[in-house]
Order: sequence, then C-alpha cells, then structure tokens
Amino acid sequence: MENVIIIGTGCAGWTAAIYSARANLKPLVLAGDQIGGQLTTTTEVENYPGFPEGIMGPELMMNMQKQAERFGTRIEYVAATKVIPQEDGTFVIEAGEKRYESRSIIVATGASPRHLGLPNEKQLIGHGLTSCATCDGAFYPDVPVAVIGGGDSACEEASFLTKFASKVYLIHRRDELRASKIMADRVLANEKIEPVWDSNVIEYLTDDKGEMEKVRLQNVKTQEESLLDVKCVFVAIGHIPNTSFLGDIVDVDDNGYLLQRTGTMTSVVGLFAAGDVTDHVYRQAITAAGSGCAASLEAERYLAEKYDS
Ligand SMILES: Cc1cc2nc3c(=O)[nH]c(=O)nc-3n(C[C@H](O)[C@H](O)[C@H](O)COP(=O)(O)OP(=O)(O)OC[C@H]3O[C@@H](n4cnc5c(N)ncnc54)[C@H](O)[C@@H]3O)c2cc1C
Repeated sequence: MENVIIIGTGCAGWTAAIYSARANLKPLVLAGDQIGGQLTTTTEVENYPGFPEGIMGPELMMNMQKQAERFGTRIEYVAATKVIPQEDGTFVIEAGEKRYESRSIIVATGASPRHLGLPNEKQLIGHGLTSCATCDGAFYPDVPVAVIGGGDSACEEASFLTKFASKVYLIHRRDELRASKIMADRVLANEKIEPVWDSNVIEYLTDDKGEMEKVRLQNVKTQEESLLDVKCVFVAIGHIPNTSFLGDIVDVDDNGYLLQRTGTMTSVVGLFAAGDVTDHVYRQAITAAGSGCAASLEAERYLAEKYDS
C-alpha cells in the first residue's frame, strides 16, 4: 500500500512529488502519456521565477523530474485508467492491466487545450501556434497576430495581446461574440483589434523555416476563402480537463474541472487535486507548481492524522 500516488508529471505533479518525497512519503508517480506535461510542447518559458534568461520548457520539466527523483520519487510509465475508492478510505488505481493501492491520491493530470484539428497543428505548436497569450504574447511584438474564439477567454487574450502586437485579428465563426457584454464591448472598442466574423480557419500556412506565416479563412455564409498574414495564432476555444479516468466518483464543475472542497481536497476524502485539472482561471506553470505543493502538504497532514504516520 502506497502513502500517496501522484497522477501526472506536469508542473503540479512533479512539485507534489518533490514535496512528498522530501516529507519521506516515498511517493509513486504515474507519468501518463505526456511526460513533463504541457510545457514540453513549448520552447522558451520566460515567466517561471528563478530563470532570468528564460528556460526551454522541456529542460524545465526535466529539471523538475530530476529534483523529484533525487529525493526518492518512483515513477511508473503508465496512464491511470480507473480510480476505485475502497470502503476503508484507501484507493485502487488501475492503469490498463496494472493495479496500485494507495492511502491518498494527488490528481495532477492537467487540461488539454482544444485545437481545430488541422493537419500541421502539432508541428506548429511553439512555432506560431499557441493557446496562451500570457505565456507567448511578448514573443510577438509589432507584428499581426490572430486569436480564434468568441468567448471571454478569447476576448481577454485579444485585449492582452494589444500590448505587443501591431494588430490583433479576432476570428470568430459567428457574427457576434459569446463573451460577457462588458468584455465584448471593450474588445470591439479597441482600435488594435479587428474582428473577423463568420469565419473558420481552415489552414495554417508556414514560411520556409516552418513558422506561422498566414492562415486561410473560409466564410461560413458565403464559403469564400481568403488569406490573412499573421505571425502567431492564439487558439482560445477552451480546454478539456483530463478527468475521464475518474468516471463520476468526484464532483466537477460545468466544464469538467475538478472541484476542490477543503483546501486542495476534492469531494472524495483522501483524493487531492492540483494544477490545471482544477484551474480554468490562471493556467500557469507557477500556479500549477504552487498547487502541487499545497496538495502535497495537505496530503501529508491527512495521512498523519488518519494513519498516525
Ligand atoms: C504551448 C504552451 C505554452 C505554455 N507556456 C507557458 C509559459 O510560458 N509559462 C507558463 O507559466 N505556463 C505556460 N503554459 C501553461 C502551462 O504549461 C500549464 O499551466 C502547466 O503545464 C499546467 O501544469 P499541470 O501539471 O497542471 O498539467 P500538465 O502540464 O497539463 O500535465 C499533465 C500531466 O498529466 C498526465 N496525465 C494526463 N492524464 C493522465 C492519466 N490518465 N494518467 C497519468 N497521467 C496523466 C500527462 O501525461 C501530463 O504529464 C503553456 C502551455 C502550453 C500548451
């Protein structure tokens, strides 16, 4: 029986592992399919404290893994497929054919940004295609960029990007924004933001270095196609929290994010949540790491109270 199993190896999971290992809980981490999480899909990270020159996303995540392993974290390279709460308050976690038992769990499985499903999307992430204006906006000063979406997040991203970009196209498939009125009004009044209504992006076009150069648009009413010069596309059509393996054992909000009931503990006693899987607001590496730390400290206290360990 493990003390704590941490599910996920992004900033939240590795931070929880570092703290749990240093508290001598001998944590076991289930890595999932994306070892190192979302930051492994990006290039430079300039806003993680402690790296004045910035650091490449994969390197940052490798450092976190090394730090967790240094204190004795064990890693299983599997993805959790089911969590079964037991009558005595412990848990069974299934990962395909494998089965693990634990007194507590920290779920740090993140949220996957939604994309359009266009063919060259994967190669373009970090090369002019992203889903985080806070993270990547500053890399595109004085050039035209586009935001895809029409909700509050899209409007927020578009407003933020006007600090850097020469122009922000807000591409939306309808002829009005879904965002709250105050947000929509602010965006429409901003001279730097140009809405592109009734339009879908149907192709990303790159330059000879493989960087984003243009998007091909299709008008949903007339089917007419056109090209738009943009150096970066910010996709703001939502995220999908990775919680399907939990089934319906735990309370989630309307968008599927895990709800924290007491501190970082979810509606299931002994099951904690950290990082983007429970956060649709901040979605940053540092906030994910911070909540991984909090979940670990709370799991430690829970174990000490329940098992006197
Ligand atoms: C392109 C891009 C650039 C970004 N740039 C920045 C930036 O510059 N600065 C910044 O602060 N933030 C940035 N972010 C946001 C940041 O990456 C996230 O906020 C952060 O990674 C969230 O960490 P997390 O640990 O909650 O989840 P994630 O990083 O999403 O990690 C989730 C982990 O869970 C695992 N997992 C999922 N399902 C299972 C399962 N069933 N079983 C086991 N494991 C599972 C995955 O394998 C993965 O290891 C960026 C995001 C993207 C996509």
